[in-house]
Amino acid sequence: MTSPALVVLNAGSSSLKFSAYAVATPTQSDANGPQRLLTGQVDAVNGAAHARAESADGRLLEERHWPPDQAPGHEGALAHLLAALPHWLGEHTVAAVAHRVVHGGMHYSAPVRLDTAVLADLDALVPLAPLHQPQGLAAIRQLMATAPALAQVACFDTAFHTTQPAVAQAYALPPQITDLGVRRYGFHGLSYAHIASRLPSLRPSVGLRTIVLHLGNGASACAMRNGESVASSMGFTALDGLVMGSRCGALDPGVVLYLIDQQGMDVRAVEHLLYQQSGLLGVSGLSADMRVLQASNDPRAQAAIGLFVYRIGREIGSLAAALGGLDSLVFTAGIGQHSAPVRQAVCEAAAWLGLALDPEAHAEAAVRGEGCITRPGSRVQAWVLPADEEGWIAFEACGLLWPA
Ligand code: ADP
Repeated sequence: MTSPALVVLNAGSSSLKFSAYAVATPTQSDANGPQRLLTGQVDAVNGAAHARAESADGRLLEERHWPPDQAPGHEGALAHLLAALPHWLGEHTVAAVAHRVVHGGMHYSAPVRLDTAVLADLDALVPLAPLHQPQGLAAIRQLMATAPALAQVACFDTAFHTTQPAVAQAYALPPQITDLGVRRYGFHGLSYAHIASRLPSLRPSVGLRTIVLHLGNGASACAMRNGESVASSMGFTALDGLVMGSRCGALDPGVVLYLIDQQGMDVRAVEHLLYQQSGLLGVSGLSADMRVLQASNDPRAQAAIGLFVYRIGREIGSLAAALGGLDSLVFTAGIGQHSAPVRQAVCEAAAWLGLALDPEAHAEAAVRGEGCITRPGSRVQAWVLPADEEGWIAFEACGLLWPA
């Protein structure tokens, strides 16, 4: 007798992240969502490659290296995973696969079961996210071809933001441009949806107006009213808003015109500059990794962290204005959950809103990786919460495929 498992895939430009969960309907699942069985990733699928997988209790399932001339590529990485999963899963068998898909456009505001018609819709969105959409769709297509009977679900990074009012989604551009789909979509929605699901359980009550800071390699901020997105720092692409690991964040579009017109850069060179050579990496000249910058005495590293924090502070002001005030601030993702110095600096930048950091609670949350970090009387509460996009995808997909 085997039990069903759901596999969650997150196909990025140079990695394939995966996890598997025991299938559970939302009512069967505990407060943390479906139970995770294993997790892992295949990295740098186009150079020398490395795969690692471990069970939920930390047992190593695989550690494997490929030299560059034998690297599996995206397709090979997924084929390798599909061949290995039955061995790793033991009594569980793969019943369905859920994918993180970056762009769901204006239409997809909830997870959807994949078929050829939905896939065609998502293909039509590739021009809106040419750097991120194709990988996820390639994995879906590969599974449709090799395992046509397997149920597949797409969960979207944009979906959570479809609740935003029209004014928050609009650019001040003529309608013929807006009609092409040039509007603010917002991203990191799977992380935000997971955080929103946790807000009601936080004690004491966090109030209705929340800003969530998802601070990882990619970084963004989302204003939520009563757990629904009303505004986000990211817009048409995942390039806008906060300073990121190697992405520039908010930039006067005139800079792009200047680089092309006066500096003779072509579109691909500008794209490479803005996505891969800017942000913490570009400013510091050292690294995109916050841990490296924090450990460095180089003034450029401190300047990069200073700009990172300054922009977050300004974005908090902007999003608080969109909310008409602020009740709570949540830190999540790698930097948000683990960098106490960044959190402290951001809380200082938000002190004018009535946020009073509690150094003891902050130190405790730094050890536990979560918790409330403000004083009991603080007008704005601040929290640290772990991100769990994969767990949220599993929760959404189980709710769709195995409703209560
Ligand atoms: P991704 O967006 O790729 O999912 P993560 O959410 O894992 O990324 O965040 C990666 C970022 O978190 C990196 O900048 C990393 O340096 C930072 N980070 C992780 N742990 C710490 C830590 N203990 N202190 C400071 N920064 C950390």
